[in-house]
Amino acid sequence: MQVLIYSVILLGVMGFAAGLGLSIAAKKFEVKEDPRVEEIIKVLPGANCGMCGYPGCSAYAHAIVEKGASPDLCVPGKKAGVSDKIKSIMKEK
Ligand code: SF4
Repeated sequence: MQVLIYSVILLGVMGFAAGLGLSIAAKKFEVKEDPRVEEIIKVLPGANCGMCGYPGCSAYAHAIVEKGASPDLCVPGKKAGVSDKIKSIMKEK
């Protein structure tokens, strides 16, 4: 019975230590992303068709913010005025 109690305590301590370590690592290695990327992803159609020349809407949003890609490349979003929305997001910040 005593072995069982020690085992449960040991596993609990190990679980707590692992959780604490992962929590600290997540904070330390956190990648801060420009909030404009997420805003642009929200206005894109989300079809992930690749017609903009990027592998998906998320990659296109990253390219606009990080590499200065043109905001006029999304073909499915043209009628909905996506490029104007992207331009206004890029001007905001
Ligand atoms: S063209 Fe538009 S809908 Fe298609 S992947 Fe690019 S951003 Fe997404």
